[in-house]
Amino acid sequence: MQNIYNVTFEELEKYFIDKNDKKFKAVQVFDWVYKKRIKSFDEMRNVSKQTIKDLNENFYFEKLSIIKKQEDTDVKKYLFNLKDDEKVEAVVMYHDYGTSICISTQVGCNMGCKFCESGRLKKVRNLEVYEMVTQILLVEEDIGQRISHIVLMGIGEPFDNYDNVIKFIDIVNSGKGLDIGSRHITVSTCGIVPKIKEFSNYDKQVNLAISLHAPNNELRNSIMNINKVYKIEDIMASVKEYIAKTNRRVTFEYILLKGINDTKKCALELCDLLKGLNCYVNLIPYNETSHIEYKKSDKESILKFYDILKKNNIGVTIRREFGSKVNAACGQLRSHYEEG
Ligand code: SAH
Repeated sequence: MQNIYNVTFEELEKYFIDKNDKKFKAVQVFDWVYKKRIKSFDEMRNVSKQTIKDLNENFYFEKLSIIKKQEDTDVKKYLFNLKDDEKVEAVVMYHDYGTSICISTQVGCNMGCKFCESGRLKKVRNLEVYEMVTQILLVEEDIGQRISHIVLMGIGEPFDNYDNVIKFIDIVNSGKGLDIGSRHITVSTCGIVPKIKEFSNYDKQVNLAISLHAPNNELRNSIMNINKVYKIEDIMASVKEYIAKTNRRVTFEYILLKGINDTKKCALELCDLLKGLNCYVNLIPYNETSHIEYKKSDKESILKFYDILKKNNIGVTIRREFGSKVNAACGQLRSHYEEG
């Protein structure tokens, strides 16, 4: 028995083909599951009783459950319970261009970024495909609206759960499924080099974001443990390869931590590192959390940093801040829930 939300369209086609049945039935099933949002195969109206019986014998419906919600004007945050009682979160943000969701990919995270709340809980396990897919279904049901953009920037390192993340993208991107355009999907990684290479061969035009946060190894080592495994020069080499293969622009995320990585020297070093690359930098005002001592850079330092990048012809944006009132930094809702 398989959870239907774990199954890609191609796998479902194969299921019917292997039974010497019509593969078109996969279109019908996906349509009922993802467009009409049935909760049981018995609701399907255009297939035979026998097909429904077979489906019921091979697949079942199971989602996560929402256990807590927090709301602000332009943001809504969800805490989900998993079947083993673990918790993960998702955040919905209302933009003028649409509604985006930030989803989790793992329970906890082993990457060890010193500024990040999620990593305070070490990885317990990877999320299964359905646990990512149903974050979206439940949220869409709750807000009564379609999600237009997905970012994989919640709890976890997507490239440490690569195969499930790729299946998840296949399902949500499928025109027969949720039909969320690949250009509207962004995967964010702290820099798992072999997976960046693998991702450059993925045939969908999904956006890649790299959490860089420092322009040199010494500084990066001091805030991100993963840099001891994959150094900046290795990341840059794999990103260049990715751009050459895909012709896609890469985003570099750069959290500004007061007095740590927000200096003029860092900005100039970052310009040198990224010069001539098809990329842009997303400057992220740090979302302070009570457990970690880093502070957010002040407005003036953020703007100075921004100006230096601009003057050096590096594409740059400052991330709009959402939901500081609702514990929006990844992992905050979960740890507030657990620690009271
Ligand atoms: N592991 C992946 C995706 C999850 S983190 C990655 O590292 O990219 C998503 C983004 O949020 C990363 O850029 C991460 O560094 C950033 N982040 C973590 N804690 C934050 C905080 N308190 N405030 C702002 N951004 C944060």
